[in-house]
Amino acid sequence: MKHTTQEFPVSPTIARMQSSSTIAAMQAATKMRAEGIDVVDFGAGEPDFDTPAHIKHAAIEAMRNGETKYTPTAGTKAFVKAITDYYKREFDVSIDATEVMGTAGGKQGIFNAVVALACSGDEVLIAKPYWVSFPEMVTFAGATSAFIETEDNDFQLTAEHVARSITPRTKLLIVNSPSNPSGRVIPIDEFCRIIETCAARGVYVISDECYVRIVYPPAEVFSATTLPAELRDYICVSGSFSKTYAMTGWRIGYTIAPQAWTKAMLKIEQHSTSNPCSIAQAAGIEAFTASQDCVAGMLNEYRKRRDWLIPALNDIPGVRCTMPEGAFYAFPDVRGCLKGELKTSGDFADLLLREAQTVVTDGAGFGAEGFVRISYATSLERLQEGVRRIRDVVERFAS
Ligand code: GLU
Repeated sequence: MKHTTQEFPVSPTIARMQSSSTIAAMQAATKMRAEGIDVVDFGAGEPDFDTPAHIKHAAIEAMRNGETKYTPTAGTKAFVKAITDYYKREFDVSIDATEVMGTAGGKQGIFNAVVALACSGDEVLIAKPYWVSFPEMVTFAGATSAFIETEDNDFQLTAEHVARSITPRTKLLIVNSPSNPSGRVIPIDEFCRIIETCAARGVYVISDECYVRIVYPPAEVFSATTLPAELRDYICVSGSFSKTYAMTGWRIGYTIAPQAWTKAMLKIEQHSTSNPCSIAQAAGIEAFTASQDCVAGMLNEYRKRRDWLIPALNDIPGVRCTMPEGAFYAFPDVRGCLKGELKTSGDFADLLLREAQTVVTDGAGFGAEGFVRISYATSLERLQEGVRRIRDVVERFAS
């Protein structure tokens, strides 16, 4: 084979994209574990629970029954029906089958929704802090991300923020409540005002509802699918089984969007992945149709961990953390710990990795330098161990 030292001529679009810092943090932890290091992993944005047994069983049965072939691009009839029935039952909303498209996880749904709509010359509004993949999808589409600062309101996006940020070039807003990484949940009336503001100016909205079921009372669960039809004309909801049912590795999710938007997304899917995995669809049907007790059980655990973690973080000198209302992330401000050689939250994350074998994700990748993300989708014992290690490093460094 001819050996060449020539640099690979990567496309300019891909060259402009950043690698995923969330995936990098997960891989760093995996590598350390493989080396036999006693790592505390607060990096992985994935449930520590196993997929519930009844869901696995449904997938095994599907394989036994020969459900191992291509399916329609949007998913099997039964999969789409399980989704529309679930939204009827859980949210009392009627969704037409033509508005649903199955995807390989929530990420593919958001990707397809962005790429189907935004292109060169368009601006896409993204509130800080944002999930690391949003701006990269916008870059892939050839459009420009326009970031909304929300630190003035403790990372809570408002309709006023959105109204101030819309320009004649704004095509789309991506909203994510509960938020990864802040865990903030937008109150329902504010959420409605945000969508109304967008619709009134002809701006479309992607509502990433990956964490919709991980909301701690008194915060309320809200899905944009429940909005009136004239607003829904502007909305693509991205849903996922990953977090709700501890199914991250199955890569199964869906979108709910107006027919025309769905049709455009289907074209992308036809020419990229053909259809979501047939076996994962069978598992998804079971997840949505069986008892939801497993979801309540996991939520209860996350809530207990959150209630322990946030005061414990606030107790570390220089660390300040708002109580998140949803998801399974704490997003502490660590600027009070930065001094001397420790200049950025990235330096802080590196220090924790080096000195405490504790993985956190640097906030800079989420558009929030000075913050780190701590995933508490890990046992209370490991949380306690990790916080003890962080406190130890912070105190040692401060002295
Ligand atoms: N969504 C998770 C996270 O934010 C998994 C990694 C990813 O897909 O970004 O950590």
